[in-house]
Amino acid sequence: MPLPFPRRPPELLRVYYSSDVVAEFDTTGSPSGRKPREVSDALRRQLWPIEFIAPEPAEVLDLCRVHDPDFVADVLELRRRNGFGSVSQVVARSLPYTTGACIGAALTALTDGIAASLTSGFHHAGPRGPRGFCTFNGLMVASTRLLAEGRVMRLAIVDCDYHYGDGTQAIIEAKGLADQVLHVSFGQRFTAPHHAQAYLDEVHRLGDWLTAFGAQLVLYQAGADTHVDDPLGGLLTTAQMRERDRAIFTMARELRLPLAWNLAGGYQVEPDGSIPRVVQLHLNTFEEALEVWGLRAPAPARPEAPGRAERPELSSPEDTGVQTASFAAGQDRRR
Ligand SMILES: [Zn+2]
Repeated sequence: MPLPFPRRPPELLRVYYSSDVVAEFDTTGSPSGRKPREVSDALRRQLWPIEFIAPEPAEVLDLCRVHDPDFVADVLELRRRNGFGSVSQVVARSLPYTTGACIGAALTALTDGIAASLTSGFHHAGPRGPRGFCTFNGLMVASTRLLAEGRVMRLAIVDCDYHYGDGTQAIIEAKGLADQVLHVSFGQRFTAPHHAQAYLDEVHRLGDWLTAFGAQLVLYQAGADTHVDDPLGGLLTTAQMRERDRAIFTMARELRLPLAWNLAGGYQVEPDGSIPRVVQLHLNTFEEALEVWGLRAPAPARPEAPGRAERPELSSPEDTGVQTASFAAGQDRRR
């Protein structure tokens, strides 16, 4: 049964972000350390109807619903390496907030219908350890928190990052959650541009699967590494990524399914280390969400992005991780 859904769209899109989710340093191999700050700054320049909400930190109990308690304690108390392969106070301090941002966005989606979290670095983290720039699995932390509180009976994780959510799947299997959490991960099965149409066809069928499962909430990984020019991805054009995002937001709204999304991967790094193309892909996702929810007028026809440009090779063959940012403006508030 669907949950009660807001009769009218929210007047603002609520986005979970604060400098607490940032791990500016000690994120070797991933450009995502600064990504939440950059996406936040870019969103503020757009003057879109967005309210930023500082996340509350997840509690240790929340983390231990999905991860081995010794693993959680060892990472937080700096006795074990995190998903970046470092032992870092900077990363450890951010982790309760990144996972807390996921919880906050999921809870807000239940009342607003739609919400976002400017976080990454979750889906490779398994029950007993980190992997691929992911330390704790915020998707499953949020899922199990809402299930434990009885806020939903079933939910779906739609993972459109380029890579497979192996950590998510491992937690679902280890904790016996397959009847409560539907995991749809597009990684592994679609890997190249000639798979793009099959990928999008599957996206357009998601509504049938989520309805059959009885999902009452969607957690969406809107990964930017799916882009055809991404050095660790390479599948969809900019227009196809917009189609992916629009189809998922439209499906969720038409089915009256609350949806919370997060950033996930994206590795198009310029020679100077900046990530404007990754930030723009995430902005496109926001634009599609705002248009589907009637919070922004549709934009005129958009040209395709320019072709592949030279870029430095990344040092790691895997996914992205934790956060960045140094913003703490007065309009942020706790919720
Ligand atoms: Zn990825």
